[in-house]
Amino acid sequence: MSRVINFSAGPSVLPESVLKIAAAEMLDCNGSGQSAMEMSHRSKEYEAIIFGAMDLLRELMNIPSNYKILFLQGGASSQFAMLPLNLMNKNKKADFVITGQWATKAYQEASRYGEAVSIASSKDKTFSYIPELDPSTFSKDADYFHICLNNTIYGTRFTKLPETGDIPLIADLSSCILSEPLDVSKFGVIYAGAQKNMAPAGLTVVIIREDLIGHARDLTPTMFDYKTHADNDSMYNTPPCYSIYMLKLVLEWLKNDIGGLDAMKVQNEKKAGLLYDYLDTSAMFKGTVEKKDRSLMNVPFITGNDELDAKFVKEAKAAGFVNLKGHRSVGGMRASIYNAMPVEGVAKLVTFMKAFENANA
Ligand SMILES: *Cc1c(COP(=O)(O)O)cnc(C)c1O
Repeated sequence: MSRVINFSAGPSVLPESVLKIAAAEMLDCNGSGQSAMEMSHRSKEYEAIIFGAMDLLRELMNIPSNYKILFLQGGASSQFAMLPLNLMNKNKKADFVITGQWATKAYQEASRYGEAVSIASSKDKTFSYIPELDPSTFSKDADYFHICLNNTIYGTRFTKLPETGDIPLIADLSSCILSEPLDVSKFGVIYAGAQKNMAPAGLTVVIIREDLIGHARDLTPTMFDYKTHADNDSMYNTPPCYSIYMLKLVLEWLKNDIGGLDAMKVQNEKKAGLLYDYLDTSAMFKGTVEKKDRSLMNVPFITGNDELDAKFVKEAKAAGFVNLKGHRSVGGMRASIYNAMPVEGVAKLVTFMKAFENANA
């Protein structure tokens, strides 16, 4: 068996040790004589899995006790509607920072339910930076303020949070959750699709401050009301059982093998540093993002020549480095280096890029 080095933006690489545990437990999970995907979600065996995953997430992210953890479905994209349905309930107004495609989708969906205000945007330069924010321009009467903390497609991230005062800050963390420590108490709601840094696709994690639950607008579908899921331990209906099982294994790996989020951050900074340092010295490849706003997780880069980009992607794939083609809206290449990408994977990529540069200079 030979595994590729996978730079996919999502679904993405999972820790190899986790995949091995999942394989070993496929027919018999914890002596139950069944796979985690075959269990009744109402069984004692499964309760240990779902509550174990919630407890571990709370521990690793240091989630305060006045926040609920919800395990939902529908992807981060469903949150674009669920948020306004539940939170755009007083002045029917919310602020948005437009830093990429996902932020734009959140903004557009919210505008179907109320007044969505674009506070700032980086669209003028293909979302290659995070705009400076001036709190005096924020809506005083907004029901919430939304940001996308890490912009998966463009490779930017917020390094400081907007000062929103009493207005709940909502953040899409799909592509950076668990990549470094975060002060959860600064947020009203955090949400993330699992398929980048947590688990296989199918699970969406929502971390919500309790006082924001229970105010959904009248027409909100039962399944789109946070209260439905908060009141039922995320088991109002069948949860995405196997993805939650995989999340628990990934969280155990993060805690026991990596050593928690501080240690994860050190590793992620090392990986990103290897790649950015090379991009800054290479005569062929260059990064596309303003240095101060560079993501730790998604690294877009170009040669400036479409044919050379295509040649690189093709030769990289043949050498075992897959999913390096950039998003169609940016072109070039993108290396997504999520938690599960080992340092050696990035080091090998840099070695390959250097050889490519020498051979094609
Ligand atoms: C991938 C991604 C999404 C979309 O997630 P789905 O689970 O596919 O709906 C939303 N926001 C960000 C930042 C993403 O990276």
